[in-house]
Amino acid sequence: MKYCKEDMFIIPYQDNIFIFYAPLYGILMSVNREAAYIIKKYLNNELDENNAFLKKLISNFPSKQITPENNRIIDEFAPTTLGLALSTLCNLNCVYCHENAGANSNVMHWDIAKSAIDFVLGNCIKFKKNLNLRFLGGEPTMAWDLLVKCISYAKTNCYKHNISLQTYITITNAAFNKKKAKFIKENFKGFYISLDGLSEDHDFHRPFKNGKGSFSIVYQNAKYFYNNNVPFGIRVTVTNRNVNKLLGIVKFISKNFPNIELAFEPLVQIGRAEINQSSIYPPTHKNFCDNYLKALSYSVNNQIKIKNSLINHIMKPRTVYCNSITHPLMILTPTGEITCCSRKTSDKFFHFGKFDIDKNKFEFNLNKIKQLNRINVHLYDNCKECFCKYICAGDCEHLRQSGFNRCITNKEILKYHLANELGLLTKGE
Ligand code: SF4
Ligand code: SF4
Ligand code: SF4
Repeated sequence: MKYCKEDMFIIPYQDNIFIFYAPLYGILMSVNREAAYIIKKYLNNELDENNAFLKKLISNFPSKQITPENNRIIDEFAPTTLGLALSTLCNLNCVYCHENAGANSNVMHWDIAKSAIDFVLGNCIKFKKNLNLRFLGGEPTMAWDLLVKCISYAKTNCYKHNISLQTYITITNAAFNKKKAKFIKENFKGFYISLDGLSEDHDFHRPFKNGKGSFSIVYQNAKYFYNNNVPFGIRVTVTNRNVNKLLGIVKFISKNFPNIELAFEPLVQIGRAEINQSSIYPPTHKNFCDNYLKALSYSVNNQIKIKNSLINHIMKPRTVYCNSITHPLMILTPTGEITCCSRKTSDKFFHFGKFDIDKNKFEFNLNKIKQLNRINVHLYDNCKECFCKYICAGDCEHLRQSGFNRCITNKEILKYHLANELGLLTKGE
C-alpha cells in the first residue's frame, strides 16, 4: 500500500521521547530520538524504505487506511434535525453572552415554528429517519407557551407517522420553577447546564438582569435534575477570572455531582464579551492548557469525566469539525432566518435561507448550502502539516470567521491525550 507521508507526524515530547502518530493508518507509538530522526528523513523523502529500521517499521504498518469521518452531503437539502431559537429573551444578563440576549425581545411566530416542524417531519417520513428537535436561545424556557406547543405538536405528529422524536434543549437553568423543571425532565433527553465555578465567579459571569447572582438557583435546579436521574452535563466558560481555579471546580463538581460530564471551553470574545472586554477576557493559551491539563489529570482517578470540544477520539480521524454545518440540519432564528451555527445565530456567514411569510414557505439558498458543505480541514493551509489535522479538523468555522484560533491549546491537549494513551505521563501530570 502507498502511504501518504504528509499524514504521518513526528511530535517531540520530551528530551529523548518522540511520538510517531498517523491516525489515518492507526499508528501511535513512542520512539527515541534516533528513530525519530530516521522516520523524519523518510517522511521528508531523504531516506528510502531499504533502510533496515524503516523496513521493519513499515512491515508493521496496517495494510488499510482508515477513511476519515466526513458527513458531507448533499444532492438534496432535506434536514431531519431542526433547531428552533424560540426567542432572543433571557432572564440572565451574562457578561459574555454571544447573542447579546435580552437586548431585544423577538419571539418566533407559531406559524414559522409549525411550518419548520412540518418541513423537517416531511423529510423524516421520506427518508425513514428520526426527528431530532433542538431548542436554543436566548433562553428557550422564556417562551414557555411556545416551547410547550412545539413539543406537543411534534409529539402528536411524529406519533401519527410512526417517527421517533428526540428532543434536546440548551437552558440557563435559572429560568424555571418546579413545574417547568418537571416538564424539562419528562421531555428532554439531556442538556448542558452552565455553571462557571463557585458563586463568586459564576455570579460575576452570569448575573440576573437585576444584577443578583444566579449561582444558588442554578445549583438547586442542577441538584433537582441530578437527584431525579435526568442526564445532563455541566459546561464551564473559562475566562481570566476562573482559569486558575479549574482544579477546584472539578473537585467541587465531582463531590456534588459524581460521574457527571464536565466541559471546559475558553471564552470567545464576541457579543457582550467584546463590550465588557476590560473586565472579562479569554485566558491565555498557556494558562488555559496548564490548568485544564491539571484538571484532566485529577479527573482520571476521580468520579468525573472531562470533555473538550477538540477531542472526540484520538484514533478516529475526521475531516470536518462541525456536524452542524455539514449535517443536514437547519436552525431557525426568531425572525425566520435559517442558519446552521448555534453559537451566534445572527451571524450572516452561516445563513442560507429564510421563511417567506407571504408565500408561507421556506426559501433556501442552495449555493450557500453547497459552499458551507464544502468546509473541511483540507481547505486551510495552516492545517496541512499539523498533527492535529484529523482530530481538530480545522476547528470551529465560527471561531475562524471571528478571527480566533486556539491552535496552541488544541495541540497541547491532543499531545497530552496521545502521551496518556502511550503511558508516557509521569505521576501527577
Ligand atoms: S449566555 Fe445564555 S444565559 Fe447568558 S444571557 Fe446569553 S442566552 Fe442568556
Ligand atoms: S461553527 Fe462552531 S460555533 Fe457554530 S455550530 Fe459549529 S462548532 Fe458551534
Ligand atoms: S490545531 Fe490549528 S492548525 Fe492544527 S488542525 Fe487545528 S486549526 Fe488546523
